[in-house]
Amino acid sequence: IIVAEGPAPSAATAAFLAADHRLFIGGRWVEAAEGGQLDVENPATGEIVARVPAGTAADIDAAVAAARQAFDHGPWSRMTPSERGRLVWKLADLLETHADEFAEIDSIDNGKPVTDARAVDVAFSCELLRYMAGWSTKIHGQTIALSSSAPFHAYTLREPVGVVGQIVPWNFPLMMAVWKVAPALAAGCTIVLKPAEQTPLSALRLAQLVEEVGFPAGVFNVVTGLGETAGAALAAHPDVDKVAFTGSTEVGKLILGSARGNLKKVSLELGGKSPVIVFPDADLDVALAGAASAIFYNMGQCCTAGSRLYIHRKVYDRLMAGMAAEAARLPVGVGLDPATRIGPLVSAEQLARVFGYIEAGQREGATVLTGGRRIGDRGFFLEPTVLTGTTPGMSVVREEIFGPVVCAMPFDDDDIDAIVAEANSSIYGLAASLYTRDLSKAHTVARRLKAGTIGVNVHHVVDVALPFGGFKQSGWGREMGYAAIELYTETKSIAVAL
Ligand code: NAD
Repeated sequence: IIVAEGPAPSAATAAFLAADHRLFIGGRWVEAAEGGQLDVENPATGEIVARVPAGTAADIDAAVAAARQAFDHGPWSRMTPSERGRLVWKLADLLETHADEFAEIDSIDNGKPVTDARAVDVAFSCELLRYMAGWSTKIHGQTIALSSSAPFHAYTLREPVGVVGQIVPWNFPLMMAVWKVAPALAAGCTIVLKPAEQTPLSALRLAQLVEEVGFPAGVFNVVTGLGETAGAALAAHPDVDKVAFTGSTEVGKLILGSARGNLKKVSLELGGKSPVIVFPDADLDVALAGAASAIFYNMGQCCTAGSRLYIHRKVYDRLMAGMAAEAARLPVGVGLDPATRIGPLVSAEQLARVFGYIEAGQREGATVLTGGRRIGDRGFFLEPTVLTGTTPGMSVVREEIFGPVVCAMPFDDDDIDAIVAEANSSIYGLAASLYTRDLSKAHTVARRLKAGTIGVNVHHVVDVALPFGGFKQSGWGREMGYAAIELYTETKSIAVAL
């Protein structure tokens, strides 16, 4: 385990970091109305790497007005679906051209390994933009035969929902933004994006590309700022038609409250406490790789993190030895070092929160099998951690930790009822995975698990074409695939009396 200095960022990234950052509103770069700024920290070092405007309600007002103008009167509203799709595709091309830079920016801002940022965050964002660009020309309604005895010609249209507010978290800064921006643009909406205060940089760089591509002014606006101020103002704004939020379940509930005023449409991608179940007939190499990446990928800061690991007792010891070895093997370091597999957590606050859980788990009777300690005294590094001796009532088993901490629990029963009930005993239902070679068991258990995405012999399952979202308190609505287009369109029924 080495926490090295890491290489310096490229000249392009260094220049971007050092630039004067502004809000992007109505196609112009403006300072925050109240003039405040937020420090942006590199979690690998704790150093301030940039300052961004602290947008407030006044900036949200200006951005929503610009988005409204662009939606109602701008050239955007008159563009053909094909012209819209071409712009979205161009944005993908430009993002790909600057892929290394975006990977560095997210690595510096969030701490994540640059290798992952390049291969996953940026690559997926390009892929999704292209996928959604394709949908822009394939959004259509239906003709419908009415039951009325009088003759009618009746049909539906799918129209863009309007001005959308999008509030995203810090764990995949660019990718979470693109998950929302790509379908909204393809559907013909206009956008006010509020990135997380911890990681605002790639959203601002994305706005530069939007400008370069030539989207009409006001179609895409970025307001950086705090959740309680800028985010709350956006969610409550009476002229926003829809708010799309990814973040914690706690804040998701606040968003719902804010959205009540004008009953704007709401979609929510929230937290999770996803189970991973290893049956005794599983290919253990596959199960080990899946279970390890389920919790250690992105330092466990994934909404789909597999943080409850249920292992059949027959294979428990072997799998636990493998998990411990894997936790010790993964190179920890500065994200910009291409060899790094585990970077720092996003902030001192997050490190303290995760530590709090590890300590609470121990107080309640859990044992640290491996990890559990801070690494070095610079930056916010934590050892990948495996807890054993955990029981269903413990806070570490019930609550989302959002760090590289897994609770491993053996099960004995060959009857699947008990393990399915255990896996489902959570307020969350975002993802789940199971490992077995038995086809019948795989499909039976997959049907009975209450979660939006189930992986069989794989954990993190995300694809541009596959609907993604949560059961229970993990959210409302589905992103990806055509489901995302549905989130950003309204159905209008038209009946013509013949
Ligand atoms: P968070 O809820 O604290 O913040 C998310 C966003 O909401 C940020 O932009 C923040 O500024 C904003 N915000 C905070 N308070 C607000 C308020 N009162 N009104 C409006 N906006 C507000 O979450 P986080 O700590 O940034 O991210 C971690 C959480 O996100 C985890 O719970 C994780 O599971 C969840 N997450 C879910 C998914 C998913 O797709 N289901 C994906 C990624 C992260």
